[in-house]
Amino acid sequence: MTPVAVYVHVPFCPSKCGYCDFNSYAMQGEVIEKTVHAIETEIDRSPQAGRPAKSIFFGGGTPTFLESRQLERLLRAVFIAHPPTDDCEITSEANPGTVDMPKFKDMVHFGFNRISLGAQSFHSSDLLRLGRVHSASEIARAVGAARQAGFTNLNLDLMFALPGQSLRAWKHNLSVALDLRPDHLSLYCLTIEPNTRFYRLHQRGMLDLPDDEAQVQMYEAACETCEAGGFRQYEISNFAKPGKQCRHNLSYWRGEEYIGYGPGAVGCVEGDSGVRVRSTNIKHPVRYCEAMDDGMPLTCEREELDHCTLRLERIMLGVRLNEGLPVDAVSLDPEILACLERKGWTDISNGAVRLTPAGRHFCSDVALHLA
Ligand code: SF4
Repeated sequence: MTPVAVYVHVPFCPSKCGYCDFNSYAMQGEVIEKTVHAIETEIDRSPQAGRPAKSIFFGGGTPTFLESRQLERLLRAVFIAHPPTDDCEITSEANPGTVDMPKFKDMVHFGFNRISLGAQSFHSSDLLRLGRVHSASEIARAVGAARQAGFTNLNLDLMFALPGQSLRAWKHNLSVALDLRPDHLSLYCLTIEPNTRFYRLHQRGMLDLPDDEAQVQMYEAACETCEAGGFRQYEISNFAKPGKQCRHNLSYWRGEEYIGYGPGAVGCVEGDSGVRVRSTNIKHPVRYCEAMDDGMPLTCEREELDHCTLRLERIMLGVRLNEGLPVDAVSLDPEILACLERKGWTDISNGAVRLTPAGRHFCSDVALHLA
């Protein structure tokens, strides 16, 4: 059986951040244990059981909001259903305010070998405005504890273009992040999503966001600082030390199959007829658990992906990668390719089309032209 990427969604957080539109809930108590049990059952009964895992990713939400024994049960269920390959990358996202040395030690003992810390900023005022539950000093403490516990593969997530953020403040964040010696950096521009507190503030003109030019400067500062710090950019927002690219996320960007478990998790695998099928689980934890108790399907959306949709998605995601998009794999129009090259947005070598540094600012436009 072909090894596959496996995702487990833990939909709980200590509180809801102002910008967050992920499927996460500030819930406590019995519902968490019930959901963990339901996810275990979903994994046990998976029609995909038996396929080896080449990567396992616990995301959320905040997986480390769970107790160690709950993380252990979920990871053990995945190991039984999807025996990990020898080089399986096993990641958990973590919020610096929900971890300590004993929990990290437990996680390493269970089999996690990569940790992804949501740092976002090293300025207390940013963290307060974003609604994060951790302080700047807790980030450094979490990095130290993760290293001491044995994590040799560590990512930091940071966001730029935050309300009121200056280029200088962003450069300071980059510099502090590099001083912590992560193996990987994910650097995302803040986007204002509907149904968030930030969206409502933005509508009322109460968010002082950096303009487009400032965002471009911040992005370029990120690329330059990472390059100078020994990181290689391999995706539009992701930078890694040699050999430390996130293999799980590469599966998504390369259009490979993936399996999803937990409330709101999305999976995309080939069905019996060889057609790729994307399915999404019920999002709300209580309704997900009720469906499990009632023996009802956990899937709330199911879509068979035709050739056109697959090709479009392959282009939209593949163009983000520095390795480029194989020209043959998606039959790209030579005239459009030539036009994009003339604009200086892309170049082609070894059969793949890649964004140039200038083209990275027009990633979505390039993808739309290629589609
Ligand atoms: S910690 Fe992450 S998932 Fe949870 S509310 Fe904040 S941004 Fe959303």
